[in-house]
Amino acid sequence: MKYIPTIGLEIHAELSTKSKIFCDCPVSFGGEPNTRCCPVCTGLPGTLPVLNKTAVEYTVKAGLALNCEINEFSKLDRKNYFYPDLPKAYQISQFDLPICKNGGITINTPEGEKFIRIERIHLEEDAGKLLHDSYDNYSLADYNRCGVPLIEIVTKPDLSSSEEAREFVEKVRLMLLYSGVSDCRMEEGSLRADVNVSIRPQGTEELGTRTEMKNINSIRGIARSIDAEIERQSELLDEGKKITQETRRWDDNKGESKSMRSKEDAHDYRYFPEPDVVPISFTKEEIEAFRKALPELPDKRLAEYTGEFGLSEVDANLLLTSVSLSDFFESAAKECGNPKAASNFITVEVLRQLNDTGLSAEDIPFGGEVLGRLLKLVENGEITAANAKKVLAEMFEGGKNPEDIIAEKGYKVINDTGEVENTVKEILAGNEKAVAEYLAGKEKTFGFLMGQCSRALAGRGNPKVVQEVLRSELNKLKG
Ligand code: ADP
Ligand code: MG
Ligand code: ZN
Repeated sequence: MKYIPTIGLEIHAELSTKSKIFCDCPVSFGGEPNTRCCPVCTGLPGTLPVLNKTAVEYTVKAGLALNCEINEFSKLDRKNYFYPDLPKAYQISQFDLPICKNGGITINTPEGEKFIRIERIHLEEDAGKLLHDSYDNYSLADYNRCGVPLIEIVTKPDLSSSEEAREFVEKVRLMLLYSGVSDCRMEEGSLRADVNVSIRPQGTEELGTRTEMKNINSIRGIARSIDAEIERQSELLDEGKKITQETRRWDDNKGESKSMRSKEDAHDYRYFPEPDVVPISFTKEEIEAFRKALPELPDKRLAEYTGEFGLSEVDANLLLTSVSLSDFFESAAKECGNPKAASNFITVEVLRQLNDTGLSAEDIPFGGEVLGRLLKLVENGEITAANAKKVLAEMFEGGKNPEDIIAEKGYKVINDTGEVENTVKEILAGNEKAVAEYLAGKEKTFGFLMGQCSRALAGRGNPKVVQEVLRSELNKLKG
């Protein structure tokens, strides 16, 4: 590599409060255009904003989860610009005194652990959405998203590759999910990022001129846009040309970006303190109380899963991809007393069911402790692993306990050797040819006979018991 890339991210996450940041309109995604708005969030003259306390608390929680300092005094500011998705013609945001500053998280890179600094996290309101595709000659505005509370997480230019950026965004996403402040649904735009990229020749210190690509809403898109931009800038420098500081629009379908505007016509936002919202202040004690109330974060869970529970890092990370799945696993593990068995069953069978049914972990129609009961029955040899899978499939249909399904289907393992003996004898009597072959020394036939017995016992035979009985019955015939 001739050049060293530098990347800084501005990650926007919509907060999952019930209502908007300055009014009581709902924040839920979608809805008929312009049905979730009121005079406040559509910026009609004479209306006054009232700050949503939960939005402020969520910003503090996000800041603590991402190791930031919380400013004891912060305020909101007006950022003035005109665009049709912003009916007030200004956005209420934070300028010089954001709620959170000086944080960061550690990511894993091929060269080892690396700390990525977060400069600030501020609270602001989202803008509406413009729909360009419905009619040929004009665009439509949907103001449902206006006033949805948003945090912006700004990193220092500490990332050096698309892989690091991906790792960072994934980790931030998990932290926000686990602290319960955002659902981080990238496909719904509730997590999106502006990507700043520059390169500089190897051996030099001063950072190169950066370009910025706005509103990229998938982790894959973020990584691809970075790689494409590094390549574009490298070609320019190779040709002896200069990089222009500009905003570019990333087209994820084409896999390329186009210039939108250069810094010369950059906005002058004329920030000034928002006069209609009182400043925010916290005491040290309040901040400490927030820190104590923070839910258990994925880092800590990962350490427990791979340490105490003995799971592989791959399985642990798989379970941690969603808070619901991780909670589900923890209650199953607690109930059955064997975290490793719970992890194996969940990462294979439960995830398969989710995949087949198109459900997500939040929608599993029974609790982790119910699965734990099923796993305990397997552990105790009361049902076979094969039948446990069938029980699981039925549990996913909803409404039924594993115990009831097992009783109904007669899955309970037969531990009565008398019943097993009778079945084995019947099978041996009905398979004279195979028996003769086995007695003549063809050991492979044993597996065939074993299969016949299991089938006849409808999978309920304790395999160990069946094997023993079959072996001893065949030995009798030998004798
Ligand atoms: P603006 O508000 O104009 O977008 P900021 O100074 O807030 O500018 O920076 C925005 C982002 O750009 C930050 O994440 C920062 O780390 C990143 N950044 C700044 N300088 C560079 C650079 N030379 N190369 C890459 N990223 C940079
Ligand atoms: Mg920017
Ligand atoms: Zn409203």
